[in-house]
Amino acid sequence: MRRAVFLDRDGVLIEEIGHLHRREDVRLIPGAASAVRALSDLGFFLVVVTNQSAVANGLCSEAELGAIHEEIARQLAAGGARVDEWAYCPHHPQAVIERYRKVCECRKPAPGMLLAAKKAHGLDLTRSFLVGDKISDIEAAHRAGAHAILVETGHGAAEKGQRGSPDHVARDLPSAVEWIRSRVGQESP
Ligand SMILES: [Zn+2]
Repeated sequence: MRRAVFLDRDGVLIEEIGHLHRREDVRLIPGAASAVRALSDLGFFLVVVTNQSAVANGLCSEAELGAIHEEIARQLAAGGARVDEWAYCPHHPQAVIERYRKVCECRKPAPGMLLAAKKAHGLDLTRSFLVGDKISDIEAAHRAGAHAILVETGHGAAEKGQRGSPDHVARDLPSAVEWIRSRVGQESP
């Protein structure tokens, strides 16, 4: 079975600017493209998993969200990198827009996006990793049985002292990927 790395979007892959809704505001975290490419080279299936309550609250349409993900993919491609799947949760329990108002299985810390990817692609989550900047990311990973890395970019520095126990804390995505690489290198073939 294939192993995966799940990547949170805002504050991990791209700069956190708060309710991003315009593609011209997309900025990759420095070194992100090379880091993503390195993960692919290690054989990982790559899935972006992002909570987008901005959709639930009418701040960003699903079409605008799609355009933003295309822009991130374009910037990654310019650095020779790509992710395999884009998963997002558009819901929120108190959503302004009624059709998105629900307690769902996909909004992190629920593990639904990870479990759906596992089912769709036959992933081995016990040998998989998630990189996130919030405790909700860490919890989603652990509830799915995956390893969790907290980065200090985005909300990460503020979240570090809180509850939750990531398997590792890294400065940023490139540093998280170095740690994953070292872990993989220790395994017997
Ligand atoms: Zn959801």
